[in-house]
Amino acid sequence: MPDFPLAVWIALAAVLGLLVGSFLNVVILRLPERMAAAWRQEARSVLELDADPAPLPPGIVREPSHCPQCKHPLSALDNIPLFGWLALGGRCRYCKCRISIQYPLVELLSGVLSAVVVGKFGPSWVALAGLALTWTLIALAGIDFRTQLLPDQLTFPLLWLGLLLSLLPMFVTAPAAIIGAAAGYLSLWSVYWAFKLLTGKEGMGYGDFKLLAALGAWMGPVALLPMVLLSSLIGALVGGSLILLRRHRREIPMPFGPFIAAAGWVWFIAGHGLLQGYMQLTGLR
Ligand SMILES: [Zn+2]
Repeated sequence: MPDFPLAVWIALAAVLGLLVGSFLNVVILRLPERMAAAWRQEARSVLELDADPAPLPPGIVREPSHCPQCKHPLSALDNIPLFGWLALGGRCRYCKCRISIQYPLVELLSGVLSAVVVGKFGPSWVALAGLALTWTLIALAGIDFRTQLLPDQLTFPLLWLGLLLSLLPMFVTAPAAIIGAAAGYLSLWSVYWAFKLLTGKEGMGYGDFKLLAALGAWMGPVALLPMVLLSSLIGALVGGSLILLRRHRREIPMPFGPFIAAAGWVWFIAGHGLLQGYMQLTGLR
């Protein structure tokens, strides 16, 4: 590694995070479309219908960026993460339609969180793994927020990577990662079934179990309870304020994945500090 001061590494991470953020936007938008198209094809083939004549939605990497409304391709300048959107005032240069605030928000989030990861771990392999975790969690949260799905294509690689890193070990030992993954899955799975048997309603989906399993593989079983509590807290705060602001109706189910992802990330960065603070506060230490 070149011998830059940490501030330079943090700035580089922020820029990289912004660039990756604009790729994450594409993943958030196109991965669920591709999945839905694949399900349609599968369903048609099971029902022995002819293949769907509609073309597959664009690939995630191949298609260049364009305005979602008028399909005009974006110039390199407009494509600059965050600043392109700000310079245009959130409107397309060609058709003047509004461009969703999701784009700059995801880019900003990715830039800021990437800078925090490198600020905490310094220029290291640990930081690189942390960035992979951060970016995957942003994509998962974005997709779940939009579509109420947590794709296996993202939760499984996150789980495998957590298990593999435990062989080094990087964050937790292999036994902790394995137990964390199994306990993460089973804990939400049991809550889901208890809730379903008691109320007949579904409060979560299987994607939530897989996401918590992946986080358990990264951070071990000890992190699971704090992460679930933290995600419920964040969920209650966000959900409560959305209902108060009348931006969200009570009957519509709220995705739980974004809150698990947020809690997982917070615990990844600050878990140790939070735990110590809690113990000092309660006089346990
Ligand atoms: Zn346009």
